[in-house]
Amino acid sequence: MKTKSFSAGLLLSLAIIACLIPSGTADDVAGANASAKDVILLIGDGMGFPQLTLARIDKAGENLSDYASTELFMDGMEQTGYVRTFSANSFVTDSAPAATAMATGHKTNNGVIGQDATAIPKKMDGKNLTTILELAEKAGLSTGLITTTRITHATPAAFYAHVDNRDNESEIADQLAKSNVEVILGGGLQYFVGKNDTDPTGKESKRNDDRNLPANFASHGYAFVYNGTAFQNIDAKKTEKLLGLFESSHLQYELERQSSPEKEPSLAEMTKKAMTILSKNPKGFFLMVEGGRIDHAGHERNLSKMVADTLAFDEAVKTALDFASKNNDTLVIVTADHECGGLVLQPENLVEYEGGVIDPIFASGTARTPGPRYDFITEMDEATHTAVDVPVMASGRGAEKVSHGKLDNTQIFEIMKEALGL
Ligand SMILES: [Zn+2]
Repeated sequence: MKTKSFSAGLLLSLAIIACLIPSGTADDVAGANASAKDVILLIGDGMGFPQLTLARIDKAGENLSDYASTELFMDGMEQTGYVRTFSANSFVTDSAPAATAMATGHKTNNGVIGQDATAIPKKMDGKNLTTILELAEKAGLSTGLITTTRITHATPAAFYAHVDNRDNESEIADQLAKSNVEVILGGGLQYFVGKNDTDPTGKESKRNDDRNLPANFASHGYAFVYNGTAFQNIDAKKTEKLLGLFESSHLQYELERQSSPEKEPSLAEMTKKAMTILSKNPKGFFLMVEGGRIDHAGHERNLSKMVADTLAFDEAVKTALDFASKNNDTLVIVTADHECGGLVLQPENLVEYEGGVIDPIFASGTARTPGPRYDFITEMDEATHTAVDVPVMASGRGAEKVSHGKLDNTQIFEIMKEALGL
């Protein structure tokens, strides 16, 4: 971003039924009522409507005359709407219940992954919920998870793990090792090597035991890569299972990643390779792709990083839409788990609204100090998630289910389940 405010950074069961269907109708998809063979769900973590607007303004070079004709790839999708994001115990959700809602169709409490709302966060397990990924695996589809965060972080974890505490990432990694997800790409090596070891990037383990999970994955037929060059050398046509973990913790922000592609592939590159591997399964696949650090940049009040990660996420959306245009039994859904930052796109000139240059601020994470009427607003270090609705877009087979526009995040699960006939 080139405006001063951007660059300066503000301080601020179905198999039996399927057999009964005459060949040539539905025998190549998972369930008798399936409309789609493949579902790709792309989640921009922390990506609310203002984040999309700002990314579009940036793509237009912050030039008002170019802005009218500028679109993100996700702007061109067939159906659009908005999603309510509240969790079982809060108007403002964190990623754990939001992703659980999309993965399972059930609301749960903040901090809880893959369990129902009887879970007491960090204290007591609830009932395990069945995820769309588990249903897909059971029906013989291939599955994949891609993120720019640790693969054990809340959003991807909600598709395979069941824990009362999203921070229990050793346990979450163990559950991933048992999940049979065919393509796993992201960060988080620190939870995959034993506690006295260093991970392949040279950083210390954060596990609480001696387990070495890459060896475990390798014994189950996974190729394991931990840098961008090795990833590029993977022949997707000959690879059935792939574990790619490229950082000890989260992947780099896109702005930093671009200068060292030998270390990490882009989100779009990971998405493309995953689709090539997964689409070899004639029964179809489920793939979740997360642009996970849009959220982190929002918490940090860093506009440049937030915009670059949103645009990198949009490139991943483009690869999914390109795949769907050649494979017309594919459903692509793009949404977010929640907004992050309370991003306000206010004009630089607060009186005349002129100049064409906006002066965005993160309004969340502010608190009122005691006072009579016109309270002074104090800004905290970190911006927060907010309760606002988030966008949803869909294209391809079954996309019309999004056509009424107004959804609850639990309905994302229902739409995907119905599309795959699971
Ligand atoms: Zn967050």
